[in-house]
Parts: sequence; C-alpha cells; structure tokens
Amino acid sequence: NVRVRFAPSPTGPLHIGGVRTALFNYLFAKKHNGTFILRIEDTDQNRYVEGAEQYIVDALNWCGMPYDEGVNKNEKFGPYRQSERKHLYKQYADELIASGNAYYAFDTAETLDLHRKDHEAKGKTFIYNWHNRQKLNNSLSLSAKKIQAKLDDGEDYVIRFKSPQDETLHLKDIIRGDIKIDTNILDDKVLFKSDGMPTYHLANIVDDHLMEISHVIRGEEWLPSLALHYQLYKAFGWEAPEFAHLPLIMNPTGKGKLSKRHASKLGIPVFPLNWLDKNTNELSIGYKEAGYFPEAVVNFLAFLGWNPGTEQEIFNLEELVNTFDLAKINKAGARFDPDKTKWFNHHYMQEQNNDELAEAFKNNHSELANIDANYISMVIGLIKERATFISDFWELSHFFFTPPTSYDEKASKKAFKDGTKELMTELISIINNIEVFTVENLQTNIKGWITSNEIGFGKVMMPLRLALVGALKGPDVFDIMFLIGKNESVKRLEKMVA
Ligand code: GLU
Repeated sequence: NVRVRFAPSPTGPLHIGGVRTALFNYLFAKKHNGTFILRIEDTDQNRYVEGAEQYIVDALNWCGMPYDEGVNKNEKFGPYRQSERKHLYKQYADELIASGNAYYAFDTAETLDLHRKDHEAKGKTFIYNWHNRQKLNNSLSLSAKKIQAKLDDGEDYVIRFKSPQDETLHLKDIIRGDIKIDTNILDDKVLFKSDGMPTYHLANIVDDHLMEISHVIRGEEWLPSLALHYQLYKAFGWEAPEFAHLPLIMNPTGKGKLSKRHASKLGIPVFPLNWLDKNTNELSIGYKEAGYFPEAVVNFLAFLGWNPGTEQEIFNLEELVNTFDLAKINKAGARFDPDKTKWFNHHYMQEQNNDELAEAFKNNHSELANIDANYISMVIGLIKERATFISDFWELSHFFFTPPTSYDEKASKKAFKDGTKELMTELISIINNIEVFTVENLQTNIKGWITSNEIGFGKVMMPLRLALVGALKGPDVFDIMFLIGKNESVKRLEKMVA
C-alpha cells in the first residue's frame, strides 16, 4: 500500500525544487494506486510565514497534482499540520529517554558556543556526541535527583538523541544504493525543546510512522539526516519506510545549486506562482504569471533528474504517471536548462485551445476590447506556431488588428522597386474583382495573374506583404488578406501606392 507525503515547511514560497519533489511523490503515488499526502511541517514557529501554506496548496493545484489526503482534505490521519499535533511528540521523546536512546541536555547556548570556539582555536570541530557528552551538562552526567530538580525548576533543556559509538550503519536509498556511515561522525541531534516543540527530525519520523508512510521521496539536502532517521526508527522499534533522495537542481552552468539570483538573471522564475514578500514588498514572479502553461512546467520538472530512457520528451501528467520509475532517477545533479523550459512551453502552446488563448490575449490588450473573440481566435490559429508565450502574440499579430503605420526601412528597400507602384495598382483591381473572398480564390486569382504575365512572385508578394504587415514577416499573405477582409486589404494597398 503506497503512501507518500510531500512535507514542506511553510517558510515562504515553494521553490521549483520543492514542486519537483511534490511531482515525483505524486507520480509515484499515482503509478502505484497509492495516496499522495500533504503534511505541513510548521514546528519552527520563528520561520513561519503567513500565506505560505495556501501558496503551497495553490501551486499543487495549478500544476494539476492535487493531494489526496492532508490539510483540510480527507483527514483520516489528521491533523496534518505539525503545530496542531504538538501534544503528540513529547511522549515519543520520553519513550526514547526511557529506553536509553535519548537524554536531557541543559547546556546553555553560551557554553556550547565556548566549546565550539575552544575547539576551533585548536583546529577541531566541536560536535556534541559520545566523545564529549559525558563532560557536558546533561542527564548522562547528572544524578536522577538533580535532573528532576532542574526540570522542576523549569530550566531550559533539549532532548538529544544518543548516537552510538563505533558502529557502522547500513543505510539504503533507492537512488543511491547502499550507504555506510560511521556513527562516530554523527552528532547527538536535538529532538525536542523545552518550549514544547519537537525538532524536524522527531516530528518527521513520528508522523511518517503514524501516517503509515511507505516511501519517503525528498531532496538530496536531507540525505545527511538519513542516518539519524534510520536510528530513530530502530530505537522506536518501527519499520522504516523506503527512502529516495532526489538529485539537486543545478544552475545552467552546472556549477552550484539553482539560485533565485542566477535564474532571474536568465529571466526564468524559480517559483511556480507569484509571491509578494510582505516584509520587503518584493514581488517574485512565478511560472504561471510569466506565461508558462502548467503542462510545460510539469514536463520540464519531470526531466530534472529523471528520464524515461527513450527519446520521448513530451509527456503529459498521465503519461508521466505510466512511465515514471524511481529506479531511473539519476544520482548526479540535474542541470536546469532555461531554453528547454521555453521549448516545452512552445510545444504546449500548440496544444492550447485557441478560444481560451484568445480570451487571455484579449484580457491583456485593451486594443482588443471591441474585437470579436472568434476573429482573435482565428488570428491565433495562424500565429501560434511562432509563439512561446501569450505575451508574444501582440508582436506577432498586431497587423491583424491595426494597419501598419510605417514600413520597415530595410524591407522597403528590398520590396519597393521601379514599377512596384504600377503593379500594386493593378493588384488592387484584381482583388476588387474577386467576388467570393476566400483564401482559395485569392490564391488562384493573384497567382494566376502573376504567372500569366510572367511578373515574378517576389515582385508582387514582397510589396504586398509590406503593405499588409509593415514588414516582411508574418503568416501566409493570403491568410492575412482573408482575415482582415477585402476592404481592409485594398485600403492598405491604396495607402502604399498613394
Ligand atoms: N519539512 C522538510 C522540508 O521542508 C521535509 C523533509 C522531508 O521530506 O523529510 O523539506
């Protein structure tokens, strides 16, 4: 029974790396008819950011991967916010103390700092573990009476995990294989604090156990915590889930983790949706608002660290579900390619419904307010093969809505020769004589006239295009004329020869 969770901390907007973690969890769940769970890990009250949880939910929905179970939805293992499960964790910390796997530590921040500096001065790193814990201020070095007195006095404490000495841990990761860890390099991580809150480690393991999580799929930055997590499962006597740590997402240069700064230099967002930071009033642009289709975002994210092992690159969510395989995820960092991201968007642009695109286009351009939606939709049908974003539409199509106000200089030189005026005047009368104004009739009449008079296509088509568009670009000339209509076509030609 596959049960996976996406467990973000609501400390701000979700980074695109987080969305990828959610996606891989989603795909794995759906592939195995399992359950995709959203749990909010908000035990660190200092880092809590208002609105972040809603943002996470909105981002998942926008991508088309809603969770099956979690906050405010199908809450059979709820609550799913760790802050609402606060009362649960202390008993587990106590259990570990009772079994000798954890201990109280009363060291103040200042003492720990002194130890750290002292070690640094000798060129060593201070870690709180078997090596020195007997000498520090904790329940391993105090009598039961003293410990109780301190607790009764309300002295600040933490509960630390007692990491074993001289053991080799054998960890398993679906992507990385077997990992061996020497316990002597591990520190005694804090599990619980006297403010009544568990740390990430304790809450995460307790909740994964209680929520019956079968597979933990998360970012590589959590790999160093795996040793502790394994030991916690063992200490509780619980069966550990399987783990898969996803490779880092790297900058386009391949060096360093993808950063907000680096991405914004390339004009690429790192967030799925817009985020307004309430403290700085800084707006970070999301993929949605930058004009990306969710299908494109999902498709490019899927390829960050995974590939199907075939040439196929275009996958919708359903195809991804069918093809996805944790065993095909790479260990190496996944290089983020901004051009590829755009390439995917261009692809999915072609699959969008023209009427819907027309509506979005219309909403972005006041010039289109009074223009028939059907007409806009037809224009889009002609230009979208050149568009990556809806924001490209205007540049590609303005001449369908407003006549050119000037002619591109270079193009004019190329198109406008001796005799062009006369030719265009003749062309006007040919167009005027077409009774049923269809693309087909335009083609036969104009092409027929050119061939039978041996005029040469360029001599006609270039100035004609210039008159209609203002430049030597755009879709098929006959399509343009048909859409703007006979009167408008003639008007534009007349303007040119005037
Ligand atoms: N709350 C952790 C995070 O923000 C979850 C890590 C995990 O999946 O275990 O990424």
